[in-house]
Amino acid sequence: MPQPAITLATKPAANTCLALIFGEGETAGNGFGKLQPTAVEEVKAALSGLGFKGVRGKTQLLSRPAGSDALALAVTGGGDVARLDEAGMEMIAASLYHAVKSAGFEGVSFDLTGYAPELVARAKLAFHLASYRFDKYFGQAKLDKAPTLKNITIACDDVKAAEAAFEPLAALRDGILFARDLVSEPANVLYPQSYADRVKALESTGLKVEVLGEAEMEKLGMHSLLGVGLGSRKESKLVIMQWHGAGDAQPVAFVGKGVTFDTGGISIKPAEGMEDMKWDMGGSAAVVGTMIALASRKTKVNAIGIIGLVENMPDGNAQRPGDVVKAMSGTTIEVINTDAEGRLVLADALWYCQDRFKPQFMIDLATLTGAMIIALGIDYAGVFSNNDELAERIGEASKAAGENTWRMPLPPQYEKQIDSKIADIRNIGGRPAGSITAALFLQRFVNNVPWAHMDIAPVAWTNEQRIPTVPEGATGFGVRTLTQLVERFYEH
Ligand SMILES: [Zn+2]
Repeated sequence: MPQPAITLATKPAANTCLALIFGEGETAGNGFGKLQPTAVEEVKAALSGLGFKGVRGKTQLLSRPAGSDALALAVTGGGDVARLDEAGMEMIAASLYHAVKSAGFEGVSFDLTGYAPELVARAKLAFHLASYRFDKYFGQAKLDKAPTLKNITIACDDVKAAEAAFEPLAALRDGILFARDLVSEPANVLYPQSYADRVKALESTGLKVEVLGEAEMEKLGMHSLLGVGLGSRKESKLVIMQWHGAGDAQPVAFVGKGVTFDTGGISIKPAEGMEDMKWDMGGSAAVVGTMIALASRKTKVNAIGIIGLVENMPDGNAQRPGDVVKAMSGTTIEVINTDAEGRLVLADALWYCQDRFKPQFMIDLATLTGAMIIALGIDYAGVFSNNDELAERIGEASKAAGENTWRMPLPPQYEKQIDSKIADIRNIGGRPAGSITAALFLQRFVNNVPWAHMDIAPVAWTNEQRIPTVPEGATGFGVRTLTQLVERFYEH
C-alpha cells in the first residue's frame, strides 16, 4: 500500500471526511463559515459538549454536518489562527492526518480555502511527511491492516499558486523520504555497493556522482577508513556527490558516516538491540537527502556530499584492538576499540573533502556516540564546531527547520584523553565526555577549515512518533536543517 495520494483542488471531494480548522476562542477561526448555516448550531453544540477548545493539534471527529455530502466532519484545532505560520500549518495538517488515517474512510478533504498558497503548500508537505511508512516488505495481509486513508484532497483558492509554492517543498520532501528509505533498509539489502548504486542512480536529478572502491582509497592512503571494512566481505566505498548550481563559487560540503551495519567489529556489541545498527548510516543518508533536495530545487549553490560506506564486521581479517593505522592526512591512529569506527571513517572522508574541494565549510553528520543520547536525550542532536559563525547559523537553520540541535563545547584540555602511547592519537577517550572526545578526534582531520560535526545518534531513528511530521522509524533528520542553512546563508 503506497502512501495516500495528496491532491490540490478548488473544492472538497465528494464522499470524503471534511476537515476544517477551528481556531481558539469565540470567533473560532473561519471553520463555521465553511458549513451550511443549518449545520452551524448543531456543530457548535457538539463542540461545546465535547469541550473542544480549538487547541492546535487536537482533532475531533463529528458526524456528517447538515446540508453536506461529506461522510463525516473532522474539526481540527488551529490555535491562534490569525497568527498561523507555516510551521503551525505543518503541525495542524500532520496531526490531522494521524487523527483520521485509521478512522475508516478512504478520503479526507482538508478545506484550506481562504489560506495563503504558502500555507496550503506546507499542509501538503506535512501530509507527505506524516504519512510516510516503510512497508515494502509487507505481504498483502499486513498491507491490508495499514491506515484506511487513501486520498487526501486539499481544497484551496488557487491551485496553481499552491502548486508553485509546493515546488521547492517537493524537493525537500524527496530528500527527506529518500533518506528515510535508506535508513529503513536492512543491512542485507543496503551495503556499501548497493548503497553506492542507489546514489549513482541519482545522477538523473543533476548530481554528479563518483564512487571510489578500495583500490582507489588505498592509493589515497585512506587506511583509517579502510581498516574499518577489513572484516567485511563487502567492499568499502567512498561516494562523492557534486551539485553545481553557482558557477565557480567556493562549495559548501557535507560529509556523512555510512556504516551500513555496525557489529562493533572485534570489540563486538551485545546481541540485544544490535539490529538497530542498520541505521548507523543515518548521517550519510542525511547527506544524500540534502544533496537530492539541493539538486531537485536547482539551488544556486555549489555543494559537495561525501559519504564513507563501510560495514563493520568481526572476521579473521578484521582490524584488532591495538592496531595502528595511518590516515590519509598522515596522522597515525591507535585503534583501541573497533566499535569507535565512525570517526575512523570520517577522518579520511573529511580530510579528502577539504584536500580536494577546498570548501568554505564542512559539516559532518554521524550517528557517532551513544554518549550523545546520555548528554542530550532523544530529541536533540549535538553540534560541535571550530567556527562560531557556522555554529550559530546551524542553530538558526535547525530552529527554522523544526529540528532540535544544541551546541556542545570542544575544550582543548580534553584532547589528552585521546592521546596515544604508540601513535599520534587513539580512537577513544574513555567514558567522560565521550561525544566531545569523539568530536575532538574528528577536529584533527579538518585542517582548520570551518567545520561542524552533528552527532545525530539521538535523532536518526525514533521508536515512537514524537513530532507529527516524523512517524516512528527513520526520521531523515538533518535534511531540513542543512537545506535551510544553504538557502538562508549560502545561496547565490
Ligand atoms: Zn560502532
